[in-house]
Amino acid sequence: MELYKLTIHELKEKLKKQEISAKELTLDFFKRIERVDKDVHSFITITKNDALKQAEEAEKRIINGDNLPLLGIPLAIKDLICIKGVRNTCGSKMLSNYIPPYDATVIKKLRESGAVFLGKLNMDEFAMGSSTETSHFGVTRNPWDLKTIPGGSSGGSAAAVAADECAGSLGSDTGGSIRQPAAMCGVVGLKPTYGRVSRFGLVAFASSLDQIGPITKDVTDTAILMNIISGRDPLDSTSADIPVPDFTRSLRNDVKGLKIGIPKEYFVEGMDVEVEKSVKDAIELFKRFGAEIKDVSLPHADYAISTYYVIAPAEASSNLARYDGVKYGYRTNNRENLLGMYKKTRQDGFGTEVKRRIMLGTYALSSGYYDAYYLKAQKVRTLIKKDFDEALKICDILLTPTAPTPAFKIGEKFDNPIQMYLSDIFTISINLAGVPAISIPCGFSNKGLPIGLQIIGKHFDEETLIRAAYTFEQNTDYHTKNPEI
Ligand code: GLN
Repeated sequence: MELYKLTIHELKEKLKKQEISAKELTLDFFKRIERVDKDVHSFITITKNDALKQAEEAEKRIINGDNLPLLGIPLAIKDLICIKGVRNTCGSKMLSNYIPPYDATVIKKLRESGAVFLGKLNMDEFAMGSSTETSHFGVTRNPWDLKTIPGGSSGGSAAAVAADECAGSLGSDTGGSIRQPAAMCGVVGLKPTYGRVSRFGLVAFASSLDQIGPITKDVTDTAILMNIISGRDPLDSTSADIPVPDFTRSLRNDVKGLKIGIPKEYFVEGMDVEVEKSVKDAIELFKRFGAEIKDVSLPHADYAISTYYVIAPAEASSNLARYDGVKYGYRTNNRENLLGMYKKTRQDGFGTEVKRRIMLGTYALSSGYYDAYYLKAQKVRTLIKKDFDEALKICDILLTPTAPTPAFKIGEKFDNPIQMYLSDIFTISINLAGVPAISIPCGFSNKGLPIGLQIIGKHFDEETLIRAAYTFEQNTDYHTKNPEI
């Protein structure tokens, strides 16, 4: 049997019944990685020795009757979430030799649940991008068509799950980086409410927008991982002290009476016809199962991209000031004087997109422009958040496409940042508002590329997202399809 094809909950059953051993399972995934990763290139670092040790440990505990939720389950992690002792590159030359001396809180929690870590996954440099083409370590390819991008910035995390190179993964989402690649790779990706999951040990891009979340083969696995990674963390003052429900209780095939809003600004003339059709079919399905569909408006939707591209670069320029050749990672050999060392380190260590963001952000924060750009963007952010508050007062959830198109060709948008930025048009405002959203597979294009449906919920109401997503999944078979790789 091809064990690597199974979901986390299926593998868990087999491990528990001791039909398979944790070590055998881990080795099976490494075999799979060896076979497909030369084409897909999801991984930056593979931690085979550590993983086998963790699997052996899990094995012993299974035999002793331990029943931890992830005992022996092989996962892989986006390369900006710190695992103690494992190189953490952020897809950048700047951190290409950085080894964190501690675990991120989410890693600590997964470890305590018995997970096995296979390695670290490719991403756009410092999570800036929508295609995983800006990585210092080369592009990741979409397992559905190796000539296309897997989405980004968590492209490695989505491609690894789609190509069965791990049972599930973690990504991070600042403007769409979990949901958009999940959509393009035909898997499930959830961006939790801001504050639901600790960011301690997540390398910061834009701190007021970043969230860690799971990427999985189905909604049940998302609920399982959310149960583990959620919750208040004293090490992250922005993590919320709000009780974490058992998300697996929301795995109910029932949307009767659920009020679903369709934001008119997300369905505009000229949108991709295949995406439009898949999402409209999804809306019909919810209607058939007893949900109440309402038209709603998010009047400031048009300003989301511009607002994000002031706020995110501003925060990034500040967060990335720490990479100066002294504290972490790369340092140039050119050390004539201190200032020269700083400059040369940053010149060599960062790629073009990161430099573009630092320049944009520094400009927006500089005296004389702060009020005109940064402060103004903060005000518009508040208006965008209010739009969601209003819509979610009369609805339980909102439905939209996740991305405006299926995956595009490698290189197609690389030299056109504006086109690239527009591929997050449906996901970015969710981060500005801080609400949770999930992307689930809802169709395929004529060329056989996956299409994603985005379900948006109220603050801290991931439960309703999971319930709606599960209902859709139970009544469709898109999530059961696999790329031929
Ligand atoms: N694509 C967006 C950007 O480039 C979002 C990235 C993200 O969510 N990390 O900033």
